[in-house]
Parts: sequence; structure tokens; C-alpha cells
Amino acid sequence: MSSKVAIMECAAYEPSRLSDAINRGIAAIGGWEKFVRPGMKVLLKVNLIGPKPPESAAVTHCELVRAVALILKNLGCEVWTGDSAGGAIAGVAPTARAFEVSGLKKMAEEIGATLKNFDREGVVAADGRSSLLDGLYLARPIFDADLVINLPKLKSHSGCIYTGAVKNVFGCIPGLRKAEYHKAAPDAHLFGNVLVDIHEAARFPLHIMDGVLAMDGDGPTAGSPYPANKILISEDPLALDAAALGMLGLRAHEIPVLRAAIERKLGEADTDKILFLGDYASPPPLSGFRLPARFAFHKKQSQKAIRLLVDFLKSKPAIDPKTCKKCNVCVDSCPMQAIDRTTKEISYAKCIECKCCHELCPHQAVYLKRSNPLASVFMKLYRGPFR
Ligand code: SF4
Ligand code: SF4
Repeated sequence: MSSKVAIMECAAYEPSRLSDAINRGIAAIGGWEKFVRPGMKVLLKVNLIGPKPPESAAVTHCELVRAVALILKNLGCEVWTGDSAGGAIAGVAPTARAFEVSGLKKMAEEIGATLKNFDREGVVAADGRSSLLDGLYLARPIFDADLVINLPKLKSHSGCIYTGAVKNVFGCIPGLRKAEYHKAAPDAHLFGNVLVDIHEAARFPLHIMDGVLAMDGDGPTAGSPYPANKILISEDPLALDAAALGMLGLRAHEIPVLRAAIERKLGEADTDKILFLGDYASPPPLSGFRLPARFAFHKKQSQKAIRLLVDFLKSKPAIDPKTCKKCNVCVDSCPMQAIDRTTKEISYAKCIECKCCHELCPHQAVYLKRSNPLASVFMKLYRGPFR
């Protein structure tokens, strides 16, 4: 059976327009009853790339998340929303701040949804392939939820040209470990394989893309808001991306990071084989959408630069013995049992840099220490959690 993508028109983040477009799109691909039952715990995996406000178009808009969450609550579901923010290459993962700035925290409080900061929730060693590093560790809520709905943002990407449903799952890797993947997989094909590993391990049965206010130009954070006025819905993340790329005049085969998804048959990449439903019978062109001025992810210089940058800016958790109250919260929350209960020393051989200890220490005794002292000077203008 061919993959289906519902492309829905939605010109504003207004509750009635959002819920109408989402409900009609879901009805077109089989109806909510195909995916949810009352009592389910449903996790909405957003794009929370960093502490960016919703109008920046860098993050999944909190009003779209609210609309999906309210629909699910009316269907009797418990709703969670979560992510681990980007910034790992620079040795930071400001997820808590990103929840606030993006409006997601306020929205969740208002409607009774639960925030899941993936940097605080522990990890699960995912089965299946782990093409790189010593295992694939994903945030625990991905597996604790009965259903995970992927809510990517339609954005240009200076490194990857485009980012959407396939790439949005990278935030399932919590904390600073993302940086190790960027280092181990600096070329687009290897990185694409990591993304497919995550999709295969976690299985996201539904993808709803926020393309109401997209980002063009030099995304994924420094581009400009572009009113694309679309919501895309599919069970197939690759087909959804192919549809979005079709709107930009591109094919999935032209996006290096999607090649592994095509090779490993994550879904359908050929728009001629996708059944388009909803408001459009084919991807409507987004006139004037600007692609990044430069994209060099696949170039050799870029690969070397990423490795050097990750090494230079690398940080790791450390415990300040003067501040530590020996409460053992970090010891008990470390998913790798990397912290010695008596000495509070961290075994970096075991540590996967998930950042749980840093997030959970009630006394701010866990700090992120730069491996290279010069990096601290370099980053002196950054007001982050470093010493
Ligand atoms: S959680 Fe913080 S205060 Fe408690 S033992 Fe760990 S480092 Fe010390
Ligand atoms: S010491 Fe444990 S909790 Fe802290 S970052 Fe490493 S693995 Fe995570």
C-alpha cells in the first residue's frame, strides 16, 4: 500500500484553524482511532532546538502542540511533550530554558500536559543496530509512552539543506552525547544512518509537521520565518519529508542526510508513489522559499572542522566536592551507574554524557567542565553552566 501524506492548509496558529486542519488531516489518513485509545500515555516529540521563542520559527510552535494535546486529551489520553535541546556540539544542552522560552512550559501548565526534559529522565539502551559508538541510548520517555507522535518543524538547514520528520528524532539522544554522534558521524550519510537507527529502535507511528510558520534561509536557527501555511501529516516520515521537499522544489534524493533513510527503506521517497490527501493533490510550491546560502555538511573540510570543534568545545560532567551535600540523587539517577556512591567520582569510561546528574542535582554541585581550558575563554561570552 502506498504511503499517504495529508497536506493541510492552515494560515495561522489559531486554535480552531489548527484543530480543524489537524483533525481533517488525521481523518484523511485513517482517523485518530487508528492511533490512540483512551487511557494511552502519548508523548509529543517536538523540535526544541534551543531557547527560541515560537515566533522565531526555530521550534515547533507551542500553539500547534497545544492543539494536538487538547485533541488527545479529549480522546481520553494523558499527554506528555518532550525533547533534548540542541547545542551539544558546543557542549551545552539548555533544555529547561528552551521549554520556557519556546512557550511550551506555560502551555503545558495551562492544559495539564506533562513536560519531559529528556536530559532528566534517564535512558534506555535501544535494541537493534547501533552503527556507531558503543550503543544507542535513547531518552526513557520514548519507551515509557504508549505512543510517540513526532512533531517536526519545516525548516531550511545550513548543514543539511533541509530538516524535517526524519531528522527531528535526533533529540531523542539526551544531553551531550549528541556531540559524540556529530563527531563519529560528521558526514551526512553516516549521520543519516544514526537517524534511521533511532527510527528503527523507537518506531514513531505518526508524524505531524508544523509548517504554518516555516523557517527559510540559514536555518535551523538563524533563518527567517516564512509563512508556508501548511501542516503535513503522515505515518511515513520519509514520505512526509519528500512531500515537504516537493514544496521546496527538491527531491529527497538530493538531501544527503536522507540517503540512508532511502537505502534502508525507512519509507517512500518518490513523490510519484505517494498518495496525497487533504487539501492538496500534490505538493504545492512555496514560492520565494530561500534555501541556505551555503551547505557544506558533506564536504571533507566540514567533516574535519566538526571533529575539531567537538573536541575543542567538549565538556563533561564533574562534581564540585565543596558544594556536594552527598544526597546521592546523582548516584541514583545515573543510568550507567557511573558515579561512585562513596567518593562521588565519575567514571568517564562508563559515562554516556546524558547530563542527568547535572540536571537533577538539587544543590548545583554538578557542573559541565570544558576538556580544553581554552574553550572556556573562547566561550566567555556564553552565559552557560560552565566553570
Ligand atoms: S546530587 Fe549533587 S549534592 Fe547530591 S550527591 Fe550528587 S553532586 Fe552531591
Ligand atoms: S555521570 Fe551518569 S548521569 Fe551523569 S552524564 Fe554521565 S551517564 Fe549521565
